[in-house]
Amino acid sequence: MKSDLSVIIPAAGLSQRFRQSAGNAAGSKLFYHIKNEPLIVSVLKAFDSSAFVREIIIATEQAGEKLLKKEILSKNKFRKPVILVRGGNTRAESVWNALRKVSKNSQYVCVHDAARPLIKPNWISHMMNQMNGSDGLVLGRHAVPTVKVFDPDSGLIKQTLKRSELFEAETPQIVKKEIFLKAYLSLGPRAFKATDDVSLIEQIGGKVKAVVQDEPNIKVTTYQDLKLAKALAGEETNLRFGFGSDRHRLVPKRALYLGGLKIPSPLGSLGHSDGDVVLHSIVDGILGALGAGDIGDFFPNTPKWKNVRSGQFLKQALQLASQKNLMPFQVDVTIILERPKLGIYKQKIKSNLARLLSLPEDKVSIKAKTAEGMGPEGEGLALSAQALVVLGGAGS
Ligand code: MG
Repeated sequence: MKSDLSVIIPAAGLSQRFRQSAGNAAGSKLFYHIKNEPLIVSVLKAFDSSAFVREIIIATEQAGEKLLKKEILSKNKFRKPVILVRGGNTRAESVWNALRKVSKNSQYVCVHDAARPLIKPNWISHMMNQMNGSDGLVLGRHAVPTVKVFDPDSGLIKQTLKRSELFEAETPQIVKKEIFLKAYLSLGPRAFKATDDVSLIEQIGGKVKAVVQDEPNIKVTTYQDLKLAKALAGEETNLRFGFGSDRHRLVPKRALYLGGLKIPSPLGSLGHSDGDVVLHSIVDGILGALGAGDIGDFFPNTPKWKNVRSGQFLKQALQLASQKNLMPFQVDVTIILERPKLGIYKQKIKSNLARLLSLPEDKVSIKAKTAEGMGPEGEGLALSAQALVVLGGAGS
């Protein structure tokens, strides 16, 4: 039975519900971190370390394939081959596309949801050891709620199901490869509608066994699920706070950069770099939260940093944070500038910062005010910014 198992991970979904719940954040949920590594890496590591597993096949769409190669496969070493195939229009179609690439030598196929990151390698051996006498196994738990069957038209309850007989199906699901293939081939296009893999084997009369367990195995669908998964994974979140402020002169013939965006203005920010007070105050806030000094220590007024875009400073500060297992958790920025009025640019700056910091937009705040004609900002001689930066993570 060792190395007899090919793992299929359908991952062609677009994370739409997750992105909406994360304040329209960009990107797939699979790249968000749990225990300091992308969620999909936790899943791959669990299978990679199981002696039963021969290979792992991920079904993904085009953009996902590129990202998986760049962010996951090139940065992590797996002992087992990780193969990428193109996903289909439904989950079951993605599984079918992957199933056709399974090694001839594998007798068993395991399907696992890409977004169930709490999987442990011993679940796989536990299941494989119970395979005898069945065509498929499904991991899951006793149903907790009372489930009734009702008529959606009349609203009348038809039946109350016996709770002791109800089982909530999760993944992994492990099946005999030949029977799985047979199910797909005999059901034809109907098979692509299945939302659960072993149900295909049930439909052709195969024997499927429920494997009951009660360890957490949450499927991350929304941003709230991700937070729950982190807590269930025992991820301790340390919060670290830093405050940054910055002020630059306003002069002609210079561009005005705020939060990485060029803002139309007759006057721009005078600085050794691009003079972006928003990014500079955030970088100082990050360094403050890390207890790591200030922006001048890292990026002095030397030729190396002359006219450099401040996004580079931010990138390096974030790398430093990530080396200490911390990442942005929340940022609150105030910009003080007499002219131009920033009202129409605030949302754009906020979106750009959310992108640069990999945060949902509701964790990024941009406030803009004037100095009511007083002081250097009020007289239009300078602009300034203040930032409160909160970093979160396991910390070190
Ligand atoms: Mg500065």
